[in-house]
Amino acid sequence: MSDAANRLAQVQAAIADAAKRAQRRAGDICLIAVSKTHEADAIRPLIAAGQRHFGENRVQEAEGKWPTLRAETPDVVLHLIGQLQSNKAEEAVGLFDAIHSVDRSSLVQALARACDKAGKQPQLFVQVNIGDEEQKGGCAVRDLPALLTEAKDAGLEIAGLMAIPPADIEPAPYFALLDELAERHALPLRSMGMSGDYETAVTMGATHVRVGTALFGSR
Ligand SMILES: *Cc1c(COP(=O)(O)O)cnc(C)c1O
Repeated sequence: MSDAANRLAQVQAAIADAAKRAQRRAGDICLIAVSKTHEADAIRPLIAAGQRHFGENRVQEAEGKWPTLRAETPDVVLHLIGQLQSNKAEEAVGLFDAIHSVDRSSLVQALARACDKAGKQPQLFVQVNIGDEEQKGGCAVRDLPALLTEAKDAGLEIAGLMAIPPADIEPAPYFALLDELAERHALPLRSMGMSGDYETAVTMGATHVRVGTALFGSR
């Protein structure tokens, strides 16, 4: 097996273990390989090993490498996991199958217009600033109900919530809070967990984990 295939098998096994502990089915958890900063040549071995869901955090970077990779493998699924400027909404809707960073009113409006124009809507997650951190993206927990209502009124379907817990502290309480918020608003999907904590996230209800370093090595 290639290094990439080995790493992928390890992460898949860890997800399966965590799912089992939580009495969940591993098949209900989508592994997103976060390929930001990595060149197409580093991504191809993972595609060859069977990985199909990939995450990028910048529209421009993704536009540089994914049209070619996608022509080679049409069934890849692309997730935008980084902050999105409203003026890039059209490009993002054109390129991505899912957007995990819907976090404010202006972006909801821009995405609604872009989806209208494109005649399609990516799967959408509202990013929640779950630790109430000043510098972080995501809508404040208290603003979530209004943003969800606004999205609905604009004709957007929100499938779930996404969060990045504060660094260097136990993430479990934040995963629990995101799970509870999703439950409260009857949203089926939870995008939570990265290389350092995806197993914990799986035991706490993650439906999408976003794993970069554990699959590609350090950036
Ligand atoms: C980079 C990034 C990840 C992946 O982080 P790793 O620690 O490398 O697994 C996950 N989510 C978001 C939003 C990111 O920007």
